[in-house]
Formats: sequence, C-alpha cells, structure tokens
Amino acid sequence: AKKGGRGQFAWFDAELEQEARERRALELDLKEAVANDEIAPFFQPVFDIATDRLRGFEVLARWTHATRGVVPPDLFIEIAEDVGLIAPLGWSVLRQACLVARSWDPRVRLAVNVSPTQFRDGHLVERMKEVFEETGFDPRRLEIELTETAIMSDFAMAQSTLRQLHALGVTVALDDFGAGFSSLSNLRQLPFDSIKIDGSFISDIKDRPENQRIVSGILALAHGLDLEVTAEGVETDADFDFLQSVKCEMGQGYHFARPMSGEDVAWMLETKW
Ligand code: C2E
Ligand code: CA
Ligand code: CA
Ligand code: CA
Repeated sequence: AKKGGRGQFAWFDAELEQEARERRALELDLKEAVANDEIAPFFQPVFDIATDRLRGFEVLARWTHATRGVVPPDLFIEIAEDVGLIAPLGWSVLRQACLVARSWDPRVRLAVNVSPTQFRDGHLVERMKEVFEETGFDPRRLEIELTETAIMSDFAMAQSTLRQLHALGVTVALDDFGAGFSSLSNLRQLPFDSIKIDGSFISDIKDRPENQRIVSGILALAHGLDLEVTAEGVETDADFDFLQSVKCEMGQGYHFARPMSGEDVAWMLETKW
C-alpha cells in the first residue's frame, strides 16, 4: 500500500493512464468496426397499443467486439460522437437496416436514430436518397428519430431539412421527449409527425402519480397538435394498462419484445404476422 500523499497521486495517475489507453484502444477498434460495417442493426418492435398490431421496428446499433464481447450502445455511441464517427456509424447502420428490411412485409416501418451531427452535416437529404437508391428501400417506410439537440442550433435549417424529408415520404419523430430541454415552440413550429416519450417517464408509472400526470399532459398536448405518441420503455403489464387507459397510440419495450436480430425479425414476421 502507498503511504504518503504523493504515492497515492502516482497510483491514481497510473490508473487514469490505463483508462485513457483502454479508451484509445476502443476508439481505434470502433473506427475499424464502423469502416467494416460491423456495427449491426438490431430491431425492436413498436406496437399499436389499442389494436396490438405491429407497426414497425426501431433500429438500434449493436457492437459485438471480438474480444470484449457486447459493448453497451450508450458507451460506443458516446465515443462515436466524441471522435467524429457518429455520422459514418449512422449511415452504415441505416444502409444495413434498409437492406435487411427491404424484403419484409412492406407494411412494416423502420425508425432510425439520427444523431445531431449526422442531421446537421448539410447533405442529409442527398445521402438519404442515395441509401434509398442503393438499397431499394421505400422511403415511405422510414421514420427518423431526432432529439431536440439536433434542431436547436439552426432552426431554419432544421425546418427546411424536415420539409425535404417529408417530400420524400420520410416521417420524423421527436425522440426522448421530456428528457432534455423540451420546448413547446419546437413542437409547434417544426413539422414533426410523432413524439416518443422517454422511457424514464414510463417505468413503474402505476406507482408514480407525478409521471402519470406528465404523460397525460404530453398526450393531451400532442393530440391537440395532431401528433401520434410512442411510449418507450414499456416494461410491465401495469405500464401497458396505464398507457392504454390514456390512449397512447404506440408502445415499445420489454413488455412487447427486446431488440432482436434481423433473422429473428424475419422469423417473427413469418410466424406471428
Ligand atoms: P433511445 O433512442 O432512447 O433508444 C431506446 C433505448 O431503450 C434502447 O437502448 C433500447 O434497447 C432500450 N429499451 C427498449 N425497451 C426497454 C425497456 O423496456 N426497458 C429499458 N430499461 N430499456 C429499454 P440502447 O439500444 O441501449 O440504445 C441506447 C441509445 O443509444 C438509444 O437511446 C439511442 O439514443 C442511441 N442509439 C442506438 N442506436 C443508435 C444509432 O444507430 N444511431 C444513433 N445516433 N444513436 C443510436
Ligand atoms: Ca430512439
Ligand atoms: Ca436517446
Ligand atoms: Ca430514450
């Protein structure tokens, strides 16, 4: 054991250095993985709550590292954002997802997460068109999920991009609603088609009256603006029952299904659809 204060600092430095080395190694591996299309799309079902019908799937990036195994998305997404890999990662995942989903029942829609950097790169619409041409995926089956961070810095640009996406038939959802700096003027002034309520408001909602009031309020607001609502993180029967009672349109979460591979989706569509 170290004795003096100085020794402890030395020990602490070594640990920080080790962490920095690990992080750097992970960054390099992530760069390779993105370039080789090894960040794969997984798919989590979204269901219509009133009718129990499948609406589509949210595409979620997954990384199985050769030696580390599954790397948590929150970790590698954060790294990708830090080191400028988030846009290439997003395009790779979108392209792979469109290729896989192209052969599924055309009623099945896909929702993809588009990071703020990817959204603001200035060529989003052209790149989207390229993906549709390359993969043969019908843009009317695609929804993009944007967080408020993506639209905040340049409102006029966001407005024009959303219009161009609509012209292609792509719909737009406002993601993680309630979790960040939600602004009602964003909802009013930008042409969103739907909003997704963050899972943090949904879990254990039966035992959390304040979250019940927030979710009911969001629904009233959204319906007043003609927006559909998807609740994330629907885990239990009680969560589901509450959402049904307040007429939330769509739900996603472990109550219905976990994110799954493209092969599992194909199997699910063959057997249950
Ligand atoms: P998100 O957009 O809020 O996605 C929903 C997250 O909730 C996913 O986490 C999903 O696996 C998880 N989830 C689904 N159902 C439940 C449930 O019932 N309970 C709980 N506790 N969690 C549930 P995941 O897959 O770990 O992704 C984390 C975040 O990483 C996503 O949050 C999204 O912001 C980001 N992300 C994932 N894939 C991509 C991508 O391809 N591009 C970009 N830009 N971001 C991505
Ligand atoms: Ca999302
Ligand atoms: Ca999120
Ligand atoms: Ca969320």
